[in-house]
Amino acid sequence: MGKPRTAVGRCLRTHEELKSTFPDARCELDFESPFQLLVATILSAQATDKSVNKATPKLFKIYDTPERLAVAEIPEIEKLIKSIGLFRSKAKNLKGMARKLIVDFDSQVPNGMDDLVSLPGVGRKTANVVRSVALGLPGLPVDTHVTRIVQRMGITGESDPVKIERVVGEMLPSDAQGEFSLRVILHGRQVCFARNPNCTECILNYFCPNAFKV
Ligand code: SF4
Repeated sequence: MGKPRTAVGRCLRTHEELKSTFPDARCELDFESPFQLLVATILSAQATDKSVNKATPKLFKIYDTPERLAVAEIPEIEKLIKSIGLFRSKAKNLKGMARKLIVDFDSQVPNGMDDLVSLPGVGRKTANVVRSVALGLPGLPVDTHVTRIVQRMGITGESDPVKIERVVGEMLPSDAQGEFSLRVILHGRQVCFARNPNCTECILNYFCPNAFKV
């Protein structure tokens, strides 16, 4: 197979190659509804999915609706999530998010980007996870792995996550954006490490402009 010579070509080939490596890539947070995924994703900022999945069963059992979470005592929420980093601010955000869902969105998780990012604790990355994973809408979550890998692959030179989301999002079919992000994140965790990437074992090394150079 020849090497793709344009940024769009490298983006689409990256997607295809990683699809064969990670055919079943899925969000690793446990959830059963958009509301639960919203809660879990807020908790996952600067924390591992594993640590979030340990805490959420009890949290979801007690606070199973925005109404219950909105009237919770913050120390009670803190108790349930204290094994997760930044638990104090996250507890406040969870309560604030639930109140806003009730007041502004009829207790439903909104699907628009502007509405999602108006919720406490929700930035574009979280909003894009909720859109692409729970709501089946276009959404390209950009984290540190995605940022590093699209730069190394010569897909974009941008370093601002919002610009990366726009530029790379335009290169992909809208229904592939979420999966692209999930697969690139797995590639970053397992192969293209921040330091000493494993270029020898990398399925992308035949067209990566930075293969064996990092
Ligand atoms: S070839 Fe190396 S730098 Fe390029 S994507 Fe693979 S691991 Fe990363």
